[in-house]
Amino acid sequence: MFLAIGLLIALGLAAFVATPLLSPEGAASSTLPVDITPLADLKRRRLVVYENLKDLEFEFQAGKIAAQDYQSLRENYLGEAAALMATTQEAGQMKENDAVIEREIAVRRTSRKIPPPRDYVCPHCGFENPVPVKFCGECGTRITDRSRNP
Ligand SMILES: [Zn+2]
Repeated sequence: MFLAIGLLIALGLAAFVATPLLSPEGAASSTLPVDITPLADLKRRRLVVYENLKDLEFEFQAGKIAAQDYQSLRENYLGEAAALMATTQEAGQMKENDAVIEREIAVRRTSRKIPPPRDYVCPHCGFENPVPVKFCGECGTRITDRSRNP
């Protein structure tokens, strides 16, 4: 009876330990915080894969893993790392494109907000001089350059 329970616990532990190795996607998405960005998540997952690779290397060096298992696991990890890298680059590219579009929108909004040059409106007759002038083109009144003397 105790042996059976012990065996069950051991099996459960083994499954628990093996699950992230067998399905890194599922494990990652279930523990994924809501506010994390896809790019940050990809980066994190890549780091996890590299950690696993390091562990694998270590365990192989320590003689805990057979050479054949080591090779196949290593190829799995490397393939996963390559796939994550490609996805990260795509996501990064998309983010960059978004940033470019955002910048263009911002520039257009700013240029639309620029008011017509009203610094050279004559205080005497109200004539809107179209170019920077010292004296009103209509009545000759001296115009204060507000852009230079705020
Ligand atoms: Zn004037």
